[in-house]
Amino acid sequence: MPEHAHDQRRGATGGLRTPPVQEWDSWPFEGGVQPKALRAPEPEPSRDGEGDRACEACGKADDQYIWTDERWRLQLFPPSGLPVVAILEPREHVDGPRDLSDAMLAEMGIMLARVERAVLTIEGIERVHILRYGEGAAHLHWWFMGRPTGLRQTASGFAMIWDDVLPPTPEDVWRENLATIVAAMNASAHPA
Ligand SMILES: [Zn+2]
Repeated sequence: MPEHAHDQRRGATGGLRTPPVQEWDSWPFEGGVQPKALRAPEPEPSRDGEGDRACEACGKADDQYIWTDERWRLQLFPPSGLPVVAILEPREHVDGPRDLSDAMLAEMGIMLARVERAVLTIEGIERVHILRYGEGAAHLHWWFMGRPTGLRQTASGFAMIWDDVLPPTPEDVWRENLATIVAAMNASAHPA
């Protein structure tokens, strides 16, 4: 618990700092910022698929994914600022990698590489950011975000914010990207 951040002796801001984000190349906005007040630690809410909440992922049909096999499903988000935002999930409802068998963990490593390669087959994508948070849903899901070649400002931690700042990818380009990913997934070797 970050009690030191709530130490009133540190003044009205609780010792929160304001890094010079306006000077950072990847910061998407102009002008200065000031940190929000940090709320006191609070109860953790139930996530999707946890406690009394039904799991959205487990309830989805395969036709809501762009690619599936016996154990994994790949979903593509509708057009947004980045050319590709996709999510890979195991069919099995597990919370984190810690809950998977060794065989599934080994396959997960292969799947991460297969999806990364598939996204990289799209022309104009330089890098694929692969992330796992697990804060919104309790069903394990890996994020894949395609980072456009040359758009250096989208190169790192603020890519997810840039995804909301950049104008959405045109529908026809997005459909081409989808087809490219599906073709690459189908063409890559199936895990043994
Ligand atoms: Zn689930």
